[in-house]
Amino acid sequence: MRVIVVGAGVVGTMHAWHAVSRGHEVVQIERESEARGASLRNFGQIWISGRAGGEELETALRARELWEAIGERVPGLGFRACGSLTPLRTAREVAVAEAAVARPDAAARGYKLLTADEARVLNPALRGAFTAALWCERDAAVEPRTAQLALKEELLTSGRYTYLGGREVREVVGTASVRDDHGDVHTGDAVILATGAWLGGLVRELAGPELPVRRVRLQMMQTDPLGEPLTTSVADADSFRYYPAYRGEALDALNAGQAQDPVAAEHRMQLLMVQRRDGGLTIGDTHEYEHPFAFDTVEEPYEHLTRVVEAFLGRPLPRIRHRWAGVYAQCTDTARVVHRQQVRDGVWLVTGPGGRGMTCSPAIAETTADQLGW
Ligand SMILES: Cc1cc2nc3c(=O)[nH]c(=O)nc-3n(C[C@H](O)[C@H](O)[C@H](O)COP(=O)(O)OP(=O)(O)OC[C@H]3O[C@@H](n4cnc5c(N)ncnc54)[C@H](O)[C@@H]3O)c2cc1C
Repeated sequence: MRVIVVGAGVVGTMHAWHAVSRGHEVVQIERESEARGASLRNFGQIWISGRAGGEELETALRARELWEAIGERVPGLGFRACGSLTPLRTAREVAVAEAAVARPDAAARGYKLLTADEARVLNPALRGAFTAALWCERDAAVEPRTAQLALKEELLTSGRYTYLGGREVREVVGTASVRDDHGDVHTGDAVILATGAWLGGLVRELAGPELPVRRVRLQMMQTDPLGEPLTTSVADADSFRYYPAYRGEALDALNAGQAQDPVAAEHRMQLLMVQRRDGGLTIGDTHEYEHPFAFDTVEEPYEHLTRVVEAFLGRPLPRIRHRWAGVYAQCTDTARVVHRQQVRDGVWLVTGPGGRGMTCSPAIAETTADQLGW
């Protein structure tokens, strides 16, 4: 079989990975010279902790298995099973964590409620004030800025993989056949459109205006090296307000009884933080849903995140070196893991994994491969 993959983000690259692994030939076409959308702009969190129980958690756990196995073959991914800690400061936050560790699927996630001292054994950099922490052993991380390049290098060694950068796919011209903006036609047995959050143009033409997917914009930052290891990923209790795993009476009580910081509430924020291999910290995030999106980043969310991180670390944050925004595509029914739609003969659109696309892509692509009988 010959598979044409459009888009070189993590969704497209994982489809290419499964097709090549199953012995097929792949041509991957990317509009930019290399991908530079959500797949490079994210935290690189392989995030199990907040996933909804059921299909979403199963997809994430399967994807984590795949990431780990791929990481052994491709060291450039920087896969590490670092786990995550969510430091807790109030009784209401602790109650949400207690409810989480009582979930029937808590063991599958590796949830454990720790004292502050126990948390500091796992992550000595957390010298600030907190009373307890939720540990999620299954959380992991990869290096998003280099992961796609590392995967591409490995795919090229197969001899069955061709990468075409700097070409935009403009139309479907027949069964499993697309034309790019150089006028070249690429024909295969299947075309996967993994075009991320670009929902206009070609995607709108093929899927129609009622695509059940929306765009979400996030602000992020990265610091100079911390000067010491941050051995686990770190979240704050605001993350409980966003992730479906924590829904329930304890979260209702937190929402009703503990006001979110006004800046965090206005920008729909949570703290997520992970250390990069150069020692810098990737820190976020905000959530913006209303269009048109701002074209610039605003400072208040960064000031809020700096305050929260400094309180957990008990020390000043290193200089902020990068600030950026990214946009992902999310199914409007957020319970759905992904939107997979046949849009023409032999042409499938795979988009909308939302804020869990980096986590779930290996399993999403595996499901596509199984469903299409690759
Ligand atoms: C700031 C931020 C933080 C995030 N953090 C995490 C996280 O820690 N963990 C997690 O699991 N998820 C995270 N996510 C979500 C995750 O990054 C996305 O779900 C995922 O990267 C989507 O991958 P994609 O391949 O669909 O899209 P993209 O990475 O955007 O790739 C799509 C590619 O298609 C190309 N393209 C589009 N149209 C065409 C065309 N017509 N022809 C050719 N090429 C085309 C684009 O140029 C682009 O390179 C985050 C997202 C953001 C924005």
